Amino acid sequence: MGESRAADVRPIGVVRCEVRERSAMPRGGVEATIDVFPEYAEALDGIEVNTHLIVVAWLHQAERRTQRVTPQRMGGDERGVFATRSPDRPNPVGIAVARLLSRDILRLRVRPVDFVDGTPVIDLKPYSSAWDSVFSARTAHDLPGALYDPAREFPRLMQEAESFHGERCRGVAMAVRLHYHVRALWGVSAKEPALSLVVGRDGCLADSLQALFGARLGDGRLLVGDGETFRVRHGGRELAFRPRPTEGMTEEDVLSRDIDELFAIREGDIEGP
Ligand SMILES: [Zn+2]
Repeated sequence: MGESRAADVRPIGVVRCEVRERSAMPRGGVEATIDVFPEYAEALDGIEVNTHLIVVAWLHQAERRTQRVTPQRMGGDERGVFATRSPDRPNPVGIAVARLLSRDILRLRVRPVDFVDGTPVIDLKPYSSAWDSVFSARTAHDLPGALYDPAREFPRLMQEAESFHGERCRGVAMAVRLHYHVRALWGVSAKEPALSLVVGRDGCLADSLQALFGARLGDGRLLVGDGETFRVRHGGRELAFRPRPTEGMTEEDVLSRDIDELFAIREGDIEGP
């Protein structure tokens, strides 16, 4: 009885992918294969009915003595590693929520994971949107303050909006640009409770903005308008975004174009309901 100061962890498989170095891993992760060791074949029984898995890995290239890190994004403030997702930590356990693309006996095809080739896998669990998803949760990424670097933040925001919306499309990219613009102009966090959102007709953009703003009908931060225009409101002021035609643009185009090519924008006092 009593507490244990030791843990005995044994890999159940290994990640196979094209990325061999941590520094070469794209921010959104990559498609990978998990080769499960034959002695765990029985433990895989029934796994293929799940669309998404939580892949738990042992980040063997990590630095285990690290207790404080300075994430480049979070305003340059040093933080304890338990307040970050840094791979460098006393027990370098990494988790990735990934779509299970296919299963071929002991081989699972998943996407995306950000584990390099050869990373030991220590566990697999089904992802459950009931237990594992907290819509509108806030992290240090959502603090107001220094303007973020698009190259670092756009991939994360694209992923957040896509996870909610269900596909990666132009509307997702439009939402990421609108989100960045609000932050640049007003310096407030999109998930700030005092900020509200009126969505217009474009369903892809409406879904994606709801995700990025963490706004819900139930908390009064989300209103449904009946026109084309999307409105962001804070402290009696309003930013109105009327989407311009973007047919023919790719998501990458949307992320790199001038904001005025994507929206007609007006700032003023709140008008209308
Ligand atoms: Zn869409």
